[in-house]
Amino acid sequence: MSTSTPAADRTDQPFDVVVIGAGFSGLYALHRLRQQGRRVVCLEAGDGVGGTWYWNRYPGARVDIESMQYSYSFDENLQQEWTWSEHFSPQPDLEAYANHVADRFDLRENIRFETRVNELTFDDAADEWHVGTALGERFVAKYVIAATGSLDVSNVPDWPGLDSFHGEAYHTSRWPKEGVELAGKRVGLIGTGSTGIQLAPEVAALADQLTVFQRTPNFSLPSLNRELDPEYVQDWKANYTQRRKQVLKTHGAVLMSSVAEQRSIFDYTEVEREEVMERAWNARNGLEFIRTFTDTSTDLEANAILAEFVRNKIRAIVDDPGTAELLCPKTYPIGGKRICQDSGYYETFNRDNVKLVDVRADTIEEITESGLRTTDSEYELDVIIFATGFDAMTGSMLNMNATGLDGVRLADRWADGPKTVFGLMTAGLPNLFMVHGPGSPSVQAQMITTGEWQVDWILRAIEYLEDNQISRFGATHAQEEAWASELDTVAARTMHAKTDSWYTGANIPGKPRVLLMYVGGFERYSNWCIRATDHGYAEFEKKQRVSLPSGQRSFE
Ligand code: NAP
Repeated sequence: MSTSTPAADRTDQPFDVVVIGAGFSGLYALHRLRQQGRRVVCLEAGDGVGGTWYWNRYPGARVDIESMQYSYSFDENLQQEWTWSEHFSPQPDLEAYANHVADRFDLRENIRFETRVNELTFDDAADEWHVGTALGERFVAKYVIAATGSLDVSNVPDWPGLDSFHGEAYHTSRWPKEGVELAGKRVGLIGTGSTGIQLAPEVAALADQLTVFQRTPNFSLPSLNRELDPEYVQDWKANYTQRRKQVLKTHGAVLMSSVAEQRSIFDYTEVEREEVMERAWNARNGLEFIRTFTDTSTDLEANAILAEFVRNKIRAIVDDPGTAELLCPKTYPIGGKRICQDSGYYETFNRDNVKLVDVRADTIEEITESGLRTTDSEYELDVIIFATGFDAMTGSMLNMNATGLDGVRLADRWADGPKTVFGLMTAGLPNLFMVHGPGSPSVQAQMITTGEWQVDWILRAIEYLEDNQISRFGATHAQEEAWASELDTVAARTMHAKTDSWYTGANIPGKPRVLLMYVGGFERYSNWCIRATDHGYAEFEKKQRVSLPSGQRSFE
């Protein structure tokens, strides 16, 4: 395909595909579509590539999957030539990697930056999508691939007085590129999820005072991050081909130097359990910690023992017993929320310039001109940092105001929670594919590799549709119901559905409470997706000019 004319100049003609988002999945989709000779444009709201790793540039931002695995697998030269420096890559390294990939594969000429999609309308007559942007442009394409990320829409609670604050206020996902001067400042940090936990030690080291406003404590393990050992890197590079395949057969699409035991926690004496849990605590492996024993992720009694082990760690690290107790999660099972990994989070509370405030007991009432007021106290602050999370999984799709067949709005279809098939498609929005959409494993699996896998699935589908002159291809309600049932089946075996968090939408007032991702493991997920391609994607609805083979569903 000729790429000499910038995509930016060609909005007058329909595209084959509009890709939304230039994060890791969007970049890969763009690359593959260009290789296939498709006419494609990628629309990106930011002014650079990297998606999550472009937006979340707060101090301490770092991935919690090891770098040798959290990377693209599609190009052997790329994976051999790129060098990571740390076991868990910091945000600047991940953003640099995204930029390198964009340059290496000449992707920028097909990307329109600072172009936020705010309208998606399906034209039933032409079987095309009309993609509108905040700049007032309109792109027309046969297919849309929404690679808009699971954690894109920031959540800032609607506190009174938000606009009245005279100091500086930032949400962590919109951290200024030029950084924020924190030296000598009184900083308030609201939120103690993965983000707040990464940020607190960094802020404490710079600011005059740090006040952490905590509503719910989280379980966090030491990341034990370190420089990468060249021999370890070499071992991975020598074995990439085989290991990348193995990865897709695992639960989280990550190979672990596993510390998981093959038996119940109750098969061990108390002393043995402590030894096993101690090894797991030091394994740099937050994702797997919950599966230290066969029953710790499923049985509440077994889970309680693991949780108490972590609470005892917190009590041992934090000097002040009152603060330690406040930092101990006690209201939900361990692993119900994503387990965090930190670099000195609990130790931060031993510093003289750090204070913990329990805003469960003493609620934040308003943001004031000079700081923040809780029910019982006033806090004078120069900087407020909102580490208050995201309208996750569904926010980015719903923000695009999609209208599908017969004028049906996605917002109405998903009013009681998202309905999808594998998080890849949703009924009523034909020819529109999502990567890491609601109902996919998303953050439950290593997202670069599984993003590649999903994009490959989508591109194979598009190839099939083109080869068979199918102009309209969509998921059915029956497929959605079957997938919803599978989502429920696997959810029932985990702690996630039993816990209030962004996984269930419980972090956003009024959002339907539904477990938003697939928690049955990547291998099981991929088997479902592959089965659905059998017999010419028989379960999907299709429309084409020539008649369909018997037994195939049609829109008409
Ligand atoms: P989060 O887990 O949703 O945490 C948001 C925090 O803000 C919670 O502590 C929450 O308290 C608090 N909060 C929200 N509304 C509040 C209110 N009205 N009053 C007081 N506190 C309030 O968001 P996040 O920390 O940004 O993390 C989101 C996800 O991003 C993670 O689970 C992870 O998947 C990903 N992430 C990954 C990494 C990594 O790879 N290392 C790093 C950062 C983020 P409650 O718990 O009480 O709601």
